[in-house]
Amino acid sequence: MKKTKEVSDKIKVKNTIVEIDGDEMTRVMWAMVKEKLLFPFLDMDLEYYDLGLKKRDETDDKITIDAANAIKKHGVGVKCATITPNKDRIKEYNLKKEWPSPNGTIRAALDGTVFRSPILVQNVPPSVRNWTKPIHIGRHAYGDVYKNQEIRVPGPGKGELRFVPADGSQPITLTIHEFKGPGILQGIHNTDKSISSFAKACFTYAFNLKVPLWFATKDTISKTYDARFRQIFQEEFEKNWKKKYEDAGIDYFFTLIDDAVARIMKSEGGILWACKNYDGDVLSDMLGSAYGSLAMMTSVLVSPEGFFEYEAAHGTVQKHYYKYLKGEKTSSNPMALIFAWTGALKKRGELDKTPEIVEFANKLEKASLETIEGGIMTGDLLRVATPSLKNRQVYTEEFIDAIADHLKKKM
Ligand code: NAP
Ligand code: MG
Repeated sequence: MKKTKEVSDKIKVKNTIVEIDGDEMTRVMWAMVKEKLLFPFLDMDLEYYDLGLKKRDETDDKITIDAANAIKKHGVGVKCATITPNKDRIKEYNLKKEWPSPNGTIRAALDGTVFRSPILVQNVPPSVRNWTKPIHIGRHAYGDVYKNQEIRVPGPGKGELRFVPADGSQPITLTIHEFKGPGILQGIHNTDKSISSFAKACFTYAFNLKVPLWFATKDTISKTYDARFRQIFQEEFEKNWKKKYEDAGIDYFFTLIDDAVARIMKSEGGILWACKNYDGDVLSDMLGSAYGSLAMMTSVLVSPEGFFEYEAAHGTVQKHYYKYLKGEKTSSNPMALIFAWTGALKKRGELDKTPEIVEFANKLEKASLETIEGGIMTGDLLRVATPSLKNRQVYTEEFIDAIADHLKKKM
């Protein structure tokens, strides 16, 4: 067998993929993944956007908008993790200002829903032993407590909820609480439009995965707010999905959020769990950790118009990066980054009707899983893997090299 593939042997990816580079340790791993696992095998047209913090600062964050527009143009993007600046980062990078989260900007531009899925390997058992299949999470990424208004109530007084109609008709006013002393007050909202597009995205995503869709709220307590979520999901199901779901042998299941949490503990997985914003925030972290490591969770932003952006769920792994800068080797795990690329390639292949690209992505996924199942793994996984004499912790680069070896055998 030839050691390196000739250019002419490379598989051609038909249409453009938008590549969005990022920061710190994930930027380092990103380059390794491309160099060792993608470029030797694929001939790709990549439209490159550098969202590294320095570049965002230089361009007054225009580069982020450009990247989002490029995804709208080409349909498929793949993104490295990026720093969301805070006060420390302003000093560290000498920034002009505290730029907003690139993920927030891209999400707003694409009006998307974020779906997260764990990567399962046989020798990393989930903390919940019956979770033998992935539990996918769809998180509503609009409104609720993330777009709230809050008041620190200083002392006695009346807290009110008030809506003033734009057509000049009578305002609606409700008393929330008559305060006898200091306290707190919060106002949250959502819109039919956003809930509706969230519901559509979830029904579509579960249908494509051919897994049942679960949705849960607390509508016994929140008889208007949460009840509206339930109602919109039910209407969407009956109008557009009932027959399709029946034919596909899957179902839509609504229950109370506390019942859903109890049932999920007994389930074997293999479902899409649609979560309201806060539930999704909390539960996706719980699932990520229960399935082994943050580095084994992938994420995709799906827009209602059919644009897709794939990424790792984790951040830039800052602590590892500082070690790397000191010249130390790190055992950071590139799995979610690799699966972001395979996700984008599979979607590209599906849209372009090029099964050879889907096949390549499947081989790369398999090579990655087999490497870990063969005992070669990064530190985060070694800590939670089933003990075995085969197990060996390796540095990131050695791990990627081992995957490349497996992959070459499959080509
Ligand atoms: P993080 O990068 O997710 O890392 C938190 C910890 O999780 C790490 O210190 C490491 O634990 C472990 N970890 C995460 N990914 C790993 C990997 N691939 N391999 C091995 N271990 C991994 O979160 P953070 O340190 O809180 O945030 C760092 C930066 O990332 C922040 O500036 C934040 O703004 C940004 N961020 C970006 C995104 C995104 O772009 N999607 C998402 C979240 C955060 P140990 O140190 O114990 O080894
Ligand atoms: Mg969270």
